[in-house]
Amino acid sequence: MNNYKKFEIVLLFILIFTILSSCNTNHASKTCLALGTVCHVNLYEDGSSEKYDYILENLANIEKKMTVNNLLNQTDMISEVEKINLESGKSSVKVSPETFYVIEKAFEYGGKTHGAFEPTIGPLVKLWNIGGELPRVPSQSEIKSALALVSWENIVLNKEEQTVFLKTENMALDLGAIAKGYAADFIVDALEKWNVKRSLIDLGGNIYVHGFRDGNKTPWRVGIKNPFEPEGQPIIRLEVSDTAVVTSGIYERFFQQDGNHYHHIIDSRTGKSAESDVVSATIICKSSMIADILSTATLVMGSENALGFLKKETGVEGIFITKDKNILTTAGLKNKLDLLDLTYKIKQ
Ligand code: AMP
Ligand code: MG
Repeated sequence: MNNYKKFEIVLLFILIFTILSSCNTNHASKTCLALGTVCHVNLYEDGSSEKYDYILENLANIEKKMTVNNLLNQTDMISEVEKINLESGKSSVKVSPETFYVIEKAFEYGGKTHGAFEPTIGPLVKLWNIGGELPRVPSQSEIKSALALVSWENIVLNKEEQTVFLKTENMALDLGAIAKGYAADFIVDALEKWNVKRSLIDLGGNIYVHGFRDGNKTPWRVGIKNPFEPEGQPIIRLEVSDTAVVTSGIYERFFQQDGNHYHHIIDSRTGKSAESDVVSATIICKSSMIADILSTATLVMGSENALGFLKKETGVEGIFITKDKNILTTAGLKNKLDLLDLTYKIKQ
């Protein structure tokens, strides 16, 4: 073997070693199961095992406090929200500042959206069980009984005592449409304290793009799913940075029966899956929690009411995809979308 060949082999070994060892460095992104979904965080060059551990630990803590999916019903695993639900109609429950803050916001937006975002939707979510085992279409009388338990107005908050009380027995909070957003904001706060330059957070579709994609201030590219083919190619590309991009879609959790599509976002006026013209609602704003609340709420409202509602909100943009493949957006997004699928039409 000549010297040149030997040199080539050494170089190859160095290269393989570098690639293998880089897989174990601090930079690797993290994926975990939390808040009932797949969570992915990438802190790029500022990633370290301490930072990832801190994030994952806190995602688990948020879940422990706010979930209503304690599948095993173990009493020692009951979350603060489940405690509130168990004590409904009986007594108030003292909760942590984080849980109180999220419920306070949920209450505020229940009012602001006139119940399109309805944090006491729990009895209906349980009744339909969409996304769980054996979902079913309930009878009209079951829906009527559950509907009687649903109203954000019957949440009683005591800020001084940090307590929450649900006025009627069997009422139930469900923070499924807000908790992931809160969790993403929690992570962003930590990233800012750590001075992380850029990162990507994806909590089951609650996206947060932090900083820029590279040192040249290139924005991130975020794709919006095709609601009729969610596993296929994205239909819209957005170029954004330092913002939350949160989508609610009727394709996320559903079951089909007798030609009907029953999905997981419930209209608190009817007790059934929302039947507006919107099949996918995306909200873009600085707070992931607000984006999470409003993506759910605007899907219930329908495109016309959603656009009217967002006109009054500052710093909040929206993209609504309708059943008939039209894409409607708020004024701030004019000419900012790249349409990738020409079977859709942008109407601005
Ligand atoms: P999202 O995927 O953020 O739109 O949240 C949907 C989840 O929030 C559902 O799986 C329910 O747990 C809960 N939910 C359903 N309908 C509503 C509603 N109208 N308002 C608030 N939460 C809801
Ligand atoms: Mg939501």
